[in-house]
Amino acid sequence: MKRQGFSLSEEQMRQCAKCGSCTVVCPVYRVTGRESLAARGKLHLLGTDLAGRPSAAFEDLFAQCLLCGACEDVCPRQLPIRGLIVEARSRFSSLYGQHGLQRWLVRRVLSSTALLERLVQTGLVLENLPLLPRDSGLRLKLGLLERGQTGKKDSGQETAAGSGRTPSEVSYFTGCLAGYLQPSIADAVRRLLQHFSGRPADEPQAQRCCGLAAWSAGNKDEAVRLAKRNIDAFASSTGPVLASCVSCFAHLKRYAGLFPDDPGWREKAERFSARVREFSSFMLEMNCTSVFRAPDRPRIMYHEPCHLRFDKENREGPRTLLRQIDRAVIVEPEGGQRCCGQGGLFHLGYPDLAERIFSKACEGALETGADIVVTGCSGCLLQWQAGLADRGTPMRVLHPAVFLADCLDTDI
Ligand code: SF4
Ligand code: SF4
Repeated sequence: MKRQGFSLSEEQMRQCAKCGSCTVVCPVYRVTGRESLAARGKLHLLGTDLAGRPSAAFEDLFAQCLLCGACEDVCPRQLPIRGLIVEARSRFSSLYGQHGLQRWLVRRVLSSTALLERLVQTGLVLENLPLLPRDSGLRLKLGLLERGQTGKKDSGQETAAGSGRTPSEVSYFTGCLAGYLQPSIADAVRRLLQHFSGRPADEPQAQRCCGLAAWSAGNKDEAVRLAKRNIDAFASSTGPVLASCVSCFAHLKRYAGLFPDDPGWREKAERFSARVREFSSFMLEMNCTSVFRAPDRPRIMYHEPCHLRFDKENREGPRTLLRQIDRAVIVEPEGGQRCCGQGGLFHLGYPDLAERIFSKACEGALETGADIVVTGCSGCLLQWQAGLADRGTPMRVLHPAVFLADCLDTDI
């Protein structure tokens, strides 16, 4: 039978040893116990005829993945599981999620970066629409918008690269959270860069969303378009490109993989990605740790985003930086780090599942008695902020840049 959709080749199927290591670590499997939701089950399904004529229920199984990378981390065959799931999504046509409006929102948002940006920018208006269900994850997300202007520099604040002035050595990739939702992050990054380098970062106006959401949804054309926009946007400078969101960082580092059949763009992407730096590691590179002093000896729990935990590049940067802050007490959750359940827009499509995954992580955090959760991923920040607010706990959730800027001791 000829298959119309995506399916694994016999060779790829044989590569899975069926060992089950991936089920042990999969956050979705851990709360559901469903084999079809773990990597082993998904890979098995992709090798069946069902993949050739996928039903909506079949496609829904592939939407129920956080793309966290925990399975790849333990897979003895080193199978590119996330890539295979994304490839499957790109061939499937279905909606994403369980509930009608949420499905529509998530499908529309994931397939249109412009819409994501518009939604975020007009979020305060949308929040008041009676159309949006009270239990919508999007409502929670939009409810966390900071009032006031966005974190994007406006056209009146021309950057060095666009003004004909000598470009700064450091460029800043703002990302959507710091750019639109929580401008305090972008402000803190700018303040720290100015403090340590003595000059503002270059912030090209032409930069766009990193494209991770589009890639995760299987929208490869949009992911490629955004990657090209960003590579071009930073082409007028040659220094480091600082990313304050670790998920953006991880995706910007993988840009070359978007151009398997285009050597010209692949080379440009490799050159661009080599310049990209994660915020905490860059602060350490600048050797600026001795001037941070925490007020009130806070207990800090660092939540490690999956994109750092499993991609491993610069994994220890945030912890190392936090440990060097004078008077900060760093605590770890007993039982180790856990996924927070956000998974990009997974939490919108599957709010119940996301909440169950978050609850496990939250229990560990509450047991530490931490005053502040610090995490550098946009999605994790939103998930922790919404989840803790929902539980009425006084625990704060901060991006490392915001916490560091609060700890900047200019008297030293
Ligand atoms: S990427 Fe994460 S959520 Fe998806 S199958 Fe692997 S472990 Fe499970
Ligand atoms: S860990 Fe890898 S080899 Fe083992 S069952 Fe999962 S996908 Fe297959």
